[in-house]
Amino acid sequence: MDQLGKCEANYVALTPLTFLKRASSVYANRTSIIYENTRFTWRQTYERCCRLASSLLSLNILKNDVISVLAPNIPAMYEMHFAVPMAGAVLNTINTRLDAKNVATILRHSEAKVFFVDYQYVPLAREALRLLMVDSQQNQTSQSPSAAPESFIPLVIVIDDVDSPKGVRLGELEYEQLIHMGNPRFVPTEIQDEWDPISLNYTSGTTSEPKGVVYSHRGAYLSTLSLILGWEMGSEPVYLWSLPMFHCNGWTFTWGVAARGGTNVCLRNTTAYDMYRNIASHKVTHMCCAPIVFNILIEAKPHERREFTSTVQVLTGGAPPPASLLEKMELLRFRVTHAYGLTEATGPALVCEWQAKWNNLPRESQAKLKARQGISVLTLADVDVKNMKTMTSVPHDGKTMGEIVLRGSSIMKGYIKDPETTSKAFKNGWFITGDVGVIHPDGYLEIKDRSKDIIISGGENISSVELESVLYRHPRVLEAAVVAMPHPRWGESPCAFLAVRENEVGRKDDVKEADIIAFCRKNLPHFMVPKKVEFLPELPKTSTGKIQKFQLRALAKAFQIT
Ligand code: ADP
Repeated sequence: MDQLGKCEANYVALTPLTFLKRASSVYANRTSIIYENTRFTWRQTYERCCRLASSLLSLNILKNDVISVLAPNIPAMYEMHFAVPMAGAVLNTINTRLDAKNVATILRHSEAKVFFVDYQYVPLAREALRLLMVDSQQNQTSQSPSAAPESFIPLVIVIDDVDSPKGVRLGELEYEQLIHMGNPRFVPTEIQDEWDPISLNYTSGTTSEPKGVVYSHRGAYLSTLSLILGWEMGSEPVYLWSLPMFHCNGWTFTWGVAARGGTNVCLRNTTAYDMYRNIASHKVTHMCCAPIVFNILIEAKPHERREFTSTVQVLTGGAPPPASLLEKMELLRFRVTHAYGLTEATGPALVCEWQAKWNNLPRESQAKLKARQGISVLTLADVDVKNMKTMTSVPHDGKTMGEIVLRGSSIMKGYIKDPETTSKAFKNGWFITGDVGVIHPDGYLEIKDRSKDIIISGGENISSVELESVLYRHPRVLEAAVVAMPHPRWGESPCAFLAVRENEVGRKDDVKEADIIAFCRKNLPHFMVPKKVEFLPELPKTSTGKIQKFQLRALAKAFQIT
């Protein structure tokens, strides 16, 4: 057999930028973007991205420079996912729910050269820039050898949206001005190496110093295709932007909708009214969201709802979706697929692929199967649940818990400027997720907890996720979180925090701790039943809408159990 060796001559770098180029010719006149009264076709989107990329180069943007953006899911945010890498730069979308201090930290850490700001976030950006300035001045006067490196003040470009009020300008330049002055026939900077960075996504900067995860063109390309296949997204989807594009580049669907020649329905706010209105008017076929958005859709008031005729495929992840919520979503004509992932895995790494043999099962059993996190997407070489001491795989018995570990093309290369944390994130080439799970006999994986959230009571491991899913089945429970509480006999015991929905006469205080405990006793083994139930008006959440268990743990510490 002739060893032909590596072929350099016809090497073409894998990059999701090819999806847009292709869409602009194959689907030239098809609608690419709908946003209120604005419409673009794929030809126009390509042209606008060329214009923007050429304008960025005229601002002296160099290869691998970071361009940050603070914006909701508007057309400009979508276009930047192509235009920025077309200029050879790296896109850094910032979580709009962060505070000014965290935004400033990200701008400084990433050394952003340009900072695009949607008008809605001008006050936040202004404060973040002020903090950067102060920092920069302190550095100039500081003689200390341990002083932070020089601070960077990026060039600010405001995005004046269609509904932007007057007088919110920040900086001299405006987004549409850049599009206007750009070259529509610009030839995008060629990607020579598919391992070059395309985007930079920071993991939660709220609890620790932010960690900047770098995605390569190759990883983004493969992850996008992998998710399209895993979710069976056909051609011409009508995709509602209910998941922030700042979450792992919209779990790669920013690039994926172009690959499928679909239509992006942009959305500034994820209110029930706006989501239902857009779903009904544009016959939405696909959307992604965290399970927390289910509550918004399920609890919508009659005047916020709209009848819709399409069946909407929903990909959900980011937190465990309780089976009871999955069931309610199905009743509303949403067909939910469950995925599990992390920023470090370019978004979803597992998808709970549906099997035809489950089609005739009762709805409740189907919801239970869907609540499992699933099997690996194609870009993962492997997923496993391991005992971390021995690095051996746990048996596929659906019971033995271990740490979930991942390997493959969608896993990040590392955190920028942080080799130490990067090396700690891997063991024997496996990325350690920090999540605890089991593998069922059919190979499907189920998360039991984050390793730090597991409750160890009298030597038994209690999965807070399992307990929460039972609590969500109680008709009055709106939000539930279970954490460990110190217990004199058992070491730890479960403590449940609940937000409940109102009854017919608008009251919440008729739900009592004893009712909840009795409900749990009926549905759980005794050792798992919470020893304490605390009611809150609303559970504390992180900037990404996840329940902040560390805050609840602090509250639980104070409870006296005898
Ligand atoms: P953060 O650590 O800031 O929440 P990510 O947004 O990357 O960062 O979240 C990843 C974590 O979210 C996972 O490690 C896991 O704990 C949780 N997670 C993601 N998807 C699911 C899911 N489908 N079910 C349960 N937990 C999930």
